[in-house]
Amino acid sequence: MTANGLSSEQIELQARAFELARGPVAARAAEVDRTEQYPWDNVELLKDARLIGMTIPTRYGGQGKSWLDAVLVIEALSSACAVTGRIAVETNMGAISAVMAYGSEEQKKMAADMVLAGDKPAICITEPDAGSDANAMTTRADKRGNRYVVNGRKHWITGGGVSRLHLIFAKVYDEQGNHEGIGGFLAIRDETQGLKITKREPTMGLRGIPEAVIDFEEMELPPSALVMPPRGLKKGFADLMTAYNSQRVGAATVALGIAQGAYDLALDWSEKRHQFGRPINEFQGLQWKLADMSIKLSAAQSLVYKAAESGRDGFPDMLLAAQAKIFTSENAIQVVNDALQFFGARGYSRELPLERMARDVRMFTIGGGTAEVLRTVVAGALLKKKLPQTRDGWA
Ligand SMILES: Cc1cc2nc3c(=O)[nH]c(=O)nc-3n(C[C@H](O)[C@H](O)[C@H](O)COP(=O)(O)OP(=O)(O)OC[C@H]3O[C@@H](n4cnc5c(N)ncnc54)[C@H](O)[C@@H]3O)c2cc1C
Repeated sequence: MTANGLSSEQIELQARAFELARGPVAARAAEVDRTEQYPWDNVELLKDARLIGMTIPTRYGGQGKSWLDAVLVIEALSSACAVTGRIAVETNMGAISAVMAYGSEEQKKMAADMVLAGDKPAICITEPDAGSDANAMTTRADKRGNRYVVNGRKHWITGGGVSRLHLIFAKVYDEQGNHEGIGGFLAIRDETQGLKITKREPTMGLRGIPEAVIDFEEMELPPSALVMPPRGLKKGFADLMTAYNSQRVGAATVALGIAQGAYDLALDWSEKRHQFGRPINEFQGLQWKLADMSIKLSAAQSLVYKAAESGRDGFPDMLLAAQAKIFTSENAIQVVNDALQFFGARGYSRELPLERMARDVRMFTIGGGTAEVLRTVVAGALLKKKLPQTRDGWA
């Protein structure tokens, strides 16, 4: 263990990720944003460097790495390209981790093989009329004979149109039409009739990953597609959502990485840029800004690492993951905004990465549980009460 609490393997892993981030990933980040094309080249780079599917257990071909290991990689990649950081999140956390924890042997093998081959799974929860209140979802899976028939609409699904493996949440009904709970089903795009990508959202930032509307029209799935958590269907959604705490830590990490990247640029520029005959970092107004930015980054990093570590024997703790995501996402917006200010007019130009970072970082108080709803999660945990907004299964 070294002075900063990381092992020598973790420092080596981090260094490997930074090498990619500062080299080929940084070189393509602006183009990925401008062209709005999913960076398949970066997926290949990550695959070659063994940075995707790291958390998958070794018996399924992964490396059995910890959440903190994944966080170190995501943080480094996101400092150069948030889209690439998100690919690292979703190939190590979220849907893949839910399948690895609760899936059947067959599902685990299939999902692991797909991710290790470069697929970023999609997780389909949100609907036009069921956002923060995910339990209000209307997508349904009706048991008919030896299959389920799924109908409904999801929106804002990250990776819709590029992802192959989908983890789809739907209300499950038996043959008599009785509601049995919310279940998660695995479906593969292009191999499943009735799974249709119907719209790409025009997003503010993170433009290299599509956000899509997905329609399910009489989509037929075998019962073996159902990812069945140990507590069964009734409580299953809550179990499956514990896996989502890893994704929340991942999302916080991308925000942290973006802010760290912006801060580094501002620090560097503050020495290079001269006004009034001296570097601009000789003005106390900017010195204090730098101090505040560094404090926010250190605090956010501590929260993120602590939340990741809490999942040493399972998934990250819900309270710690929520605290980390709220604090990091809100402070990262401020840090990036302050960093942009250091550049004056140049910061507002599309020739520098600051404006892209400001657009990219804005998402993290929204996606994966809004900052408001997550505050309710934190309050519920502190008060040990099930608040109306924290019903089983979601936030
Ligand atoms: C870039 C991006 C990627 C995403 N990726 C995915 C994905 O891959 N899969 C997926 O399923 N979803 C995804 N989402 C959807 C995301 O999880 C939802 O946007 C989020 O849960 C909020 O839902 P909503 O947008 O419907 O907002 P609403 O729920 O309509 O909320 C609107 C406002 O009301 C506030 N609010 C709502 N309820 C409460 C409450 N109880 N207390 C206080 N305030 C409240 C919210 O905080 C917000 O400010 C993504 C979203 C974005 C932006």
